[in-house]
Amino acid sequence: MQEAASEFTTLSTFIPSRHKRILPSMPAFYPDDAKDIPSSPSTASPSTIADADRYSRQILFPGIGESGQKRLRHAHAVVVGVGATGAATASLLARAGVGHLTLIDRDFVEPSNLQRQMLFDEDDARASLPKAEAARLHLARINSSVHVTAHTADLVPHNASELLSDAHIVLDCTDNFETRYLINDLCVRDARPWIYAAAVGAYAATMNILPPGASTLADTFAYAPTACLACIFPSPPSGNVETCDTAGILSTAVNLAASIQVTEALKFLTAQPHLMRRTLLSFDLWSTEANNALARSEISTTKPRPDCEVCGQRIFRALSGDQRPHITLCGRNSVQIHEHHRPLNLTDLKARLQPLGQVRSNGHLIRFHYPPYTITAFPDGRALIQGTTNVGLARSLYARFIGS
Ligand SMILES: [Zn+2]
Repeated sequence: MQEAASEFTTLSTFIPSRHKRILPSMPAFYPDDAKDIPSSPSTASPSTIADADRYSRQILFPGIGESGQKRLRHAHAVVVGVGATGAATASLLARAGVGHLTLIDRDFVEPSNLQRQMLFDEDDARASLPKAEAARLHLARINSSVHVTAHTADLVPHNASELLSDAHIVLDCTDNFETRYLINDLCVRDARPWIYAAAVGAYAATMNILPPGASTLADTFAYAPTACLACIFPSPPSGNVETCDTAGILSTAVNLAASIQVTEALKFLTAQPHLMRRTLLSFDLWSTEANNALARSEISTTKPRPDCEVCGQRIFRALSGDQRPHITLCGRNSVQIHEHHRPLNLTDLKARLQPLGQVRSNGHLIRFHYPPYTITAFPDGRALIQGTTNVGLARSLYARFIGS
């Protein structure tokens, strides 16, 4: 890099000054012109980018075209979970021009996320920004015409109806079956399509769920319903289930799951549900079969299971359950406590904790260091207790420092 810079510096002495202004990629080497360059790109007033330019290649694709692009502008997708899959999915949706995105995530950006969570950068991790909020800021720079609503919240029975109520489609980018069953209950109840996505190790899987009932897009023609999540998985996988903690994760597997998920969503949002896949599709990107083909499996989801408790009998246990267990998060030695659905006043809490140890805040959360534990508290009353997987201990730290 040093060599290249000195080469440019030398070269610049031979370029007449009147030509320097047409070389926008070289401003740093022209001190005379520095005053013309905005000090921060984020504060410069953005010039409008015409849709015809931005989406020209996507409109050329016959599956989208002008009419599909218009439909996308009026579409609303909810992304639940803005970790690895959610960051990729939200980015793809925003770039495609899906007009309204709602992002829901309970977590904040950490250094270990940067390997695979494509929307975030080192500044986000240093500032411990909530993922939904950090994603919203980055998406605004990618496509300012997309309206992004960010919720730093845990999707739970008491807020799920409200958070998902306006969505044409819901995209599951979570890492746990508990939340997926909640999404499944709500979407089957309200006849709202959703798409399951999962990635762990080199494994990626997705499945479209088209519940029976009216379409969330009024003019989308009728489609035959598919099996729901509970038809395929009547109970969550048990036993020694691999997680990001035990199996690690390849960024490429995440991005494959997100790509397939978003492609299927685009089919629905452009009123082409008949093109949507009706299988549980999975890939193992690191393995090959005996015939040298990539290891993959595809299970039909064409027929809902008649005795399915959710879509057959319409019993919505996940949605009615208000006693959720404490959750140990993927990728961290930590416990989330969310016992009291009441807001926290972060200013008061900060003042209370300051005499007891180091406290940092960024306007969205408070982080309190109490070695060997770190407690991160959110305005919605949640706290992440890092440094333990012992629920009892986490609960007592919560009661002691946040309140019982
Ligand atoms: Zn079902």
